[in-house]
Order: sequence, then C-alpha cells, then structure tokens
Amino acid sequence: MHAGTDEQGQAQEEAPEPSPKLGSRMQHIQLLLVKQGAKPALRMVISEEQLPGLSGFCRQQGLALVTSGRKVKVLGIPGKNEGYVDKGVAIPRDDPAPGRPIVFIAQDMNTAVALKAAEDLGNHDEMGRLLGYPSCCIRFFGEHLEDQREGDLSFLRPMMLASAKTTYPKTMNIFARHQDAAVLFHCPCSLDCAPSQRMAQQYLHIIEEQEPALAESIDAQLQGTVEQDGHSYRFV
Ligand SMILES: [Zn+2]
Repeated sequence: MHAGTDEQGQAQEEAPEPSPKLGSRMQHIQLLLVKQGAKPALRMVISEEQLPGLSGFCRQQGLALVTSGRKVKVLGIPGKNEGYVDKGVAIPRDDPAPGRPIVFIAQDMNTAVALKAAEDLGNHDEMGRLLGYPSCCIRFFGEHLEDQREGDLSFLRPMMLASAKTTYPKTMNIFARHQDAAVLFHCPCSLDCAPSQRMAQQYLHIIEEQEPALAESIDAQLQGTVEQDGHSYRFV
C-alpha cells in the first residue's frame, strides 16, 4: 500500500489482515474511516481485479460489502488520477464492455443494501444521508445537480461562490482530490460549512492515529495556496 502500515513494520498490530490493494489513497482512507466506525458507509468504483481482495478484507473485518448491478464505463479524463472519478456512465454489470465495479461498504448489511437501493432509485438525498454527509451539503448537491451535469460534476464553482473568506483550515482543501489528497469525500456546501469542518477535522485525527505516515503526506499536500477560476484560497 501507499505510505501504509505494511512496509512500515507495524505488522505487530492485531491479527494479520491483508490490506486490500485499492486504486487510491482516498479510497484507502474511506475504508479506514468506515472500519473505525467514523464514517457510516462508502461508495467506491474499483477495478474487477481489486474486488476479490476487497471482499475478503471486508469479510475478515466484519464489514458488509454489496456490489451494484451496474458498473462504470469511465469517460477518461486524461491526466487525472483514476482513483477519483467525477463522471462516468453506468452500464449493466454483465455488459460485455469493460467497466469498473461499484461497491457499497458499511458496518452493517442494512446500510450497504439501502445505499445500493438509493443509488438504483437515483435518490441522492438518501445516499448522502447514508454516506454521512451533512444535511446542508446534501441540499446543496440537490440544488446544483442539474447544472453540474452539464459540466464536470465537481460542484466546485457553486461551492466557491458560497465561500466568503480566503483562508481556511487545510482539512477543507478539496481541490487536491485529483492529486489523491483529501479528508472530505463530498463537496461541502461552502468552505465555511461548520459540520464539514468538524467532520474533516475528525477524519484527519483518525488518520493521524491510525496511519501517521499517510497523514503526514496528505497534510503536506493540503496546505498551501490554491488558485481556481479567479478565486484564491490559502489553506493552513
Ligand atoms: Zn454543508
């Protein structure tokens, strides 16, 4: 894994558990947060080869994993990290065309199944709730979904328009997602969003406790100045 425990000689912690090979640090972090009970559930797009390892890991950890009946045919965004996909087209899981499986992982089977059902129904509010996102951010997502569908589905523009200040805590830096660094997994309704700030802070604490080397490298990437679409933010 990345700055992970395996090479760091921390094999003494608990029973041996094969860390599943995931495509990105952000996926690795989300799995860690669900495992630690800090995040109720996650949805991620993986590769077919990653599925057996991930399933085995979840079984061993007592986590519930449900696979979607659809898979994602990725509309490639050249140069972007493949572990973070803003936009793709869902095709049936048994379609012969290549695609990437969508998995839902939660601490209990009911939540994982409900998350899958919510996605099947296109119920974004329910998905947001099950994924643990703040209600203000769920509302924001719903309000901007139509216009974001025309673009890259990043929600960054409306978020920036709602953000009044120029300096923010580094944990709110979601601009580094494409460099595979973030401790928030939804686009906040604003960089001023208090529930998102608390959540991001809590997540970083857990990463620091569980995987200090990873936390350090993410931390370094989140700090600094970001210029985007005429906006400039300093993350400290
Ligand atoms: Zn919010």
